[in-house]
Formats: sequence, structure tokens, C-alpha cells
Amino acid sequence: MDDQNQQGGGAPQQPRPKFQGDWTCSKCGGKITELPFDPDPSRLSQLLCRDCHRAQRDAMGR
Ligand SMILES: [Zn+2]
Repeated sequence: MDDQNQQGGGAPQQPRPKFQGDWTCSKCGGKITELPFDPDPSRLSQLLCRDCHRAQRDAMGR
């Protein structure tokens, strides 16, 4: 039997795009200069810095 199942060797890992700007964390008031996502203009007042975002996620659990 031929074994011609070529499925590639997995996709190369791409660095996540980062969005740079000048935002303020709504929780700790810290400066946010980089986000892994494009912030929604209507939610700029709810932005969380990386630490607060992580803390919130941990607090929320699953
Ligand atoms: Zn914060």
C-alpha cells in the first residue's frame, strides 16, 4: 500500500499580532501600550492591563 498521506508538518508558529497604543487600565490605572487584540473603541474605558486581565480571568474561573 502506498503511504502518500502528506499532511504537512504542522503550521509554523506565528507571533501574535500586537496592537500598540496609549491606553489606561480601568482597574489599576496603569498604562497599557500593547494589546494582543484590537480594542473596541466603545470599550476603551473598560480596558484592563495584562495583569488585571489575568487576575480577572482567574477570579472568574471557568
Ligand atoms: Zn491593571
